Amino acid sequence: MGRLWRQLRWRIVAAQMVVVVVGVALVLLMAYVILGLFAPPGVLAELDAFRRSVFTAVSVAAFGAIIAGLMTSFWLAREILRPLRQITASSQRLAHGHYTERVPVPASDELAQMAENFNQMAAALEQVEQQRVALIGNVSHELRTPLAGLNGYLEGLMDGVFPGNEETFALMDHEVRRLRRLVDDLQALSRVEAGQITLQLADFDLIPLVERVLRQLGPSAESQELQMEADFAVPSLSVRADADRVAQVLLNLVGNAIRYTPEGGRIVVEVKAAERTAVVSVSDTGVGIPAEALPYVFERFYRVDTSRTRRSGGSGGSGIGLTISRHLVWAMGGDLTAVSPGPDQGSTFNFTLPLASRPK
Ligand code: ADP
Repeated sequence: MGRLWRQLRWRIVAAQMVVVVVGVALVLLMAYVILGLFAPPGVLAELDAFRRSVFTAVSVAAFGAIIAGLMTSFWLAREILRPLRQITASSQRLAHGHYTERVPVPASDELAQMAENFNQMAAALEQVEQQRVALIGNVSHELRTPLAGLNGYLEGLMDGVFPGNEETFALMDHEVRRLRRLVDDLQALSRVEAGQITLQLADFDLIPLVERVLRQLGPSAESQELQMEADFAVPSLSVRADADRVAQVLLNLVGNAIRYTPEGGRIVVEVKAAERTAVVSVSDTGVGIPAEALPYVFERFYRVDTSRTRRSGGSGGSGIGLTISRHLVWAMGGDLTAVSPGPDQGSTFNFTLPLASRPK
């Protein structure tokens, strides 16, 4: 590295020197030409003396210019090279995994911009690294719960604590399903986050799709004594989207509404048309979401109340569903948002979809 910087420094100094030497040569040449116009050397003694003093003066000035040029070029080289050197050293440390690495921002505008860009890049890398570490922690934590359950049942079976009957196997099956769902969700999450989902976009009527999802989740709502209603502002509403993905989003939202609404509550699914979009709202009278948690509900693995989710018997509850849903809605050109007046005051999840170009 040292050799490279030395080379660069000498190049800067050499470039400055070339300018000074060419300048001095030009001045001498001009003095020679101008004085030569009056008389060639050796003809007029006064002119010869004048010529000599001009050359002496120009030589002294040239010497001074070279010294000043050398000093300024060394100073300039140092000023330019120091921040570049720092950035090079820091980028090497960054490449070796020191993500907290930052460089001081120099006073000069262009280099300050470069240093700021470097620091922004380092900060982004640090954030990605933190997310990666958190993701591994979250995934292993989520996998540990059903695995610990399975392990417990197996040990109980081997020790004869649990009878090898249908009930025990059903409990084990429940844990296996939970593991499977989690692995499927993780795979779906990685695909949507990487933008690797292929959408089958088509124009279709949203109303029958919403009715189908409500019929599908009806028994689950009934078993929890929840009242589930549809409120359609229009008899049909044609959207351009992927019907399977829309159903997946709706299943997640209505499924959450069922999970987070205590017995006797009410769930309403509304469909209406706005300017150029269809708006679907899923409202419930459930546990609600505190204002400080609202910005995070779409983050992967985020759960407002982990103990409540655990109590719900592990039906989902890994905090990935809303992340996947939001990415799906985004991919279809819409948006998914959440509102809640606060804890125990219910929540509403709204998502939009583009209307079909030609209403059917
Ligand atoms: P989970 O599988 O844990 O439900 P989601 O990503 O679907 O994961 O939801 C993330 C978190 O958002 C949930 O753990 C819950 O705390 C909160 N949440 C989602 N839907 C509702 C709702 N309808 N009412 C209250 N809280 C909700």
